[in-house]
Amino acid sequence: MSDEIFMQQALAQARQAAAAGEVPVGAVVVRRGEVIATGRNAPVDGHDPTAHAEIVALRAAAQALGNYRLDDCELFVTLEPCAMCSGAMLHARLRRVVFGAADPKTGAAGSVLNLFEQPQLNHQTALQGGVLARECGDLLQAFFRQRRADKREEARLAHPLREDALRTPDAAFDRLPGYPWQPRYVSELPALGGLRMHYLYEGEAGEGGLTWLCLHGNPAWSYLYRKMIPVLLEAGHRVVAPDLIGFGKSDKPKKDSFHSFSTHRQILLELVESLDLQNVVLVVQDWGGLLGLTLPMAAPRRYQGLLVMNTTLGTGDAPLPAGFLAWREMCAKNPEFDVARLFARGNPQMSAAECAAYSAPFPDKGHRAALRAFPPMVPDSPDADGAAISRQARGFWQNDWTGRSLMVVGAQDPVLGPPVMRGLQALIRGCGEPVVLAQAGHFVQEHGEPVARQALAFFSPAA
Ligand SMILES: [Zn+2]
Repeated sequence: MSDEIFMQQALAQARQAAAAGEVPVGAVVVRRGEVIATGRNAPVDGHDPTAHAEIVALRAAAQALGNYRLDDCELFVTLEPCAMCSGAMLHARLRRVVFGAADPKTGAAGSVLNLFEQPQLNHQTALQGGVLARECGDLLQAFFRQRRADKREEARLAHPLREDALRTPDAAFDRLPGYPWQPRYVSELPALGGLRMHYLYEGEAGEGGLTWLCLHGNPAWSYLYRKMIPVLLEAGHRVVAPDLIGFGKSDKPKKDSFHSFSTHRQILLELVESLDLQNVVLVVQDWGGLLGLTLPMAAPRRYQGLLVMNTTLGTGDAPLPAGFLAWREMCAKNPEFDVARLFARGNPQMSAAECAAYSAPFPDKGHRAALRAFPPMVPDSPDADGAAISRQARGFWQNDWTGRSLMVVGAQDPVLGPPVMRGLQALIRGCGEPVVLAQAGHFVQEHGEPVARQALAFFSPAA
């Protein structure tokens, strides 16, 4: 009975070791029915391979008694001692050693070997195992189970960088104006193949709340939605805003050839499924629309609204707008074009720091594969990748869409401006007269605050 009482005290030491992140083993030294020393496993913390619970307890006991010989002492330890500790116990000439759980891997008190049974080594130390063995073993198992789970979680959060990809250093995104949100990452989606995708996931979609899925285009990233997000969150809604692979805080494959319409569409489809987005208002502009407008037909029950800004469908069976062809030519001739200047040119209201934030993801040429790949990726023939699925999407918007649709158009856009948007409006069942913003250009979201208020009033009049 008293063995169990002392083993309980050794267990208390083991729990303290676990709390400190050490393998939970604890020991006490008892003399004449009294605990004179305790020890807990601490090799990690002390950078000391000999800092096993038993050694720590033996040292403390010898100090307490002023004698390296502990003839009239008993040692209680939660785990069968190893060869080192068993040897030290024999040197100390302990009267008795009591342990809890057996250690089939390194135990030197019967499991792997038994130093206590060597007549040449041991003349007086008695041995007993199995006291509170189950409790002692459970503590160890729980510790290792938790540690395995922690390691898996760590690996999940770490998202190792693929060799054929680049990752813009975090420092490039420090202190961007108007972008306070916590980054979230995913790399487990099959279509990502281990690439790390960044997205914002803010707010709670409570009773009647909407999830605004905000998709950016080329060469923007989720920063584009910084003026709309606060308005939507304040209204009690959720916002999800991914950065396409190759953009923003997402990984950037080195090769232009990684990028294809189908790959990016598949990634978005998988993201929506993995986050299980419900009551979605799809918010699109530019490539956000080329890709995003093909998503709802794959899971119509998830979507109930469409907020569509300057974009188009790449069906491949109609000529691309002249403004777009001019843009594509500009990109081909000037692959190193200045992203910040592009925003500054169309948005005189933006600060220099805001414009620079759009350049942040692309510190050098190597990071710009997506910028080179995207303009030629717009389907421009019936057989082009994405054309067939875009024609299918056209049919969906014309015939099957049952949600509400709001179109907001930046009038100053030379690429996908009012004429193109009129054409798109005609394809979307139930889409009313577009709201035209006279001052806004291609990047309509740079006027996002009034756009978000208008959208709230339209999609969520009760809010
Ligand atoms: Zn040991």
